[in-house]
Amino acid sequence: MKKALITGIRGQDGAYLAKLLLEKGYKVYGADRRSGDSGNWRLKELGIEEDVEIIYMDLLELTNIRHVISKIMPDEVYNLAAQSFVGVSFEQPILTADIDAIGVLRLLETLRDIKPDTKFYQASTSEMFGKVREIPQTENTPFYPRSPYAVSKVFAHYISVNYREAYNMFTACGILFNHESELRGLEFVTRKTTYAIARIKRGLQDKLVLGNLDSKRDWGYAPEYVYGMYLMLQQDKPDDYILATGETHTIREFVEKAFEIAGFNIEWSGEGIASKGIDKKTGKVLVEVSKDFYRPSEVELLIGNPQKAKEKLGWQSNTKFDKLVQIMMEADLKRIEREFK
Ligand code: NDP
Repeated sequence: MKKALITGIRGQDGAYLAKLLLEKGYKVYGADRRSGDSGNWRLKELGIEEDVEIIYMDLLELTNIRHVISKIMPDEVYNLAAQSFVGVSFEQPILTADIDAIGVLRLLETLRDIKPDTKFYQASTSEMFGKVREIPQTENTPFYPRSPYAVSKVFAHYISVNYREAYNMFTACGILFNHESELRGLEFVTRKTTYAIARIKRGLQDKLVLGNLDSKRDWGYAPEYVYGMYLMLQQDKPDDYILATGETHTIREFVEKAFEIAGFNIEWSGEGIASKGIDKKTGKVLVEVSKDFYRPSEVELLIGNPQKAKEKLGWQSNTKFDKLVQIMMEADLKRIEREFK
C-alpha cells in the first residue's frame, strides 16, 4: 500500500486530494498544525474524517518535520500547506515567507536527508506571474510576483526545481490557477460571495462588500485540480505543469451570475470604487465596493494555457465557469437553509 503525506490536510485541496488518494488505495496521512476539531469540517463534509490519519506537523518547526518524515517514510508528499491568502500576506509578510518559502525548504532538506526517493509535489501558483509578461501564461512565462505570498511561492518553486536538478529528487510543481469549490474558505472572494448571497436571501445580511470588481481570474473546479496533482507524481520524470481552464472572468461576472442563480437580478451603477449592484426588483443596494478590500498591488490578467498538462498528463478542466458558480451558489443556499431551519 502506497503511503502519502498531505500537508495542509484541512484546507480545500487537502480534503479533496485525501479523498482521491483514499479511493486509489493509498494510506493517507494528513499533516495538521493542530487547528482543533473545528478545522475538520471539510473532511467531515467529504465523509473521510475517520479514514485519514492526522499527524501534527507545522512547517515552521524543523524537528517536528524530521520526526514525522522518519515515522511515516512516505512514498509521496503533497505540500499544500501555506498561508494562502494574498491579502493577509501584506499584513504578515514575514510569517508568510517563513511558512510558504522556508517551510518548503525545511521539508525538502528533511526528505533529502531521510527519504530522498520520496516523490514531492509543490503547490505553486498563478500569482507568481503577477505583473504579466505574456497572455496566456505558460510554463515558460517569466514570473513577476506582486505580493509577499507570491514572492514566497516563487522561492518555493525554484528551490523545488533546484532540488530536482542538484540532488536528482522527484519534485514536481503544479502552477495552479485559481480553483474553487463548495469547500473554499470564506475569506476568498468566490466563497465570500456565494455565502453572503445565501445569507442575503435568508434576510441575515443586507449587502455584500467587495474589493476590485474588475479583477480577472481563471477559475476552475478544485476536485479536478487535485487529480492533476496526483497525475504529476505518477509520471516517469518530474516536471512543472500549469493547471488552468484557459478562460478568464471578472469578479463582477461571478457576482452577477451567483445572484442570478439565487433568484436576484442586479444592475450596476457607478464605476471602480463607486460601483454598486442594485436589485432591479426592489432598488436595494446589494453590492458595494470598499477600498479596504483592494490589494496594495494587484495582479493583472491571469489566464493560463493548460496545453502541456493536456498533452503530457491527459488532464483537462471540464467544469466551466457557469457550472462552477452554480455548484458553489447552490451549496451555500442549502447550507444556510440547513443552519437556520
Ligand atoms: P487553504 O488555505 O484552504 O489550506 C492551506 C492549509 O495550510 C490550511 O489547512 C492551513 O492550516 C495549512 N497551514 C498554514 N500554515 C501552516 C503551517 N505553518 N504548518 C502547517 N500547515 C499550515 O489552501 P488551498 O487548499 O486552497 O490551497 C492549497 C495550496 O495550493 C496552498 O499552498 C495554496 O497556496 C496553493 N494554491 C491554491 C490555489 C487555489 O486557488 N486554491 C491556487 C494556486 C495555489 P489551518 O487550517 O490550520 O489554517
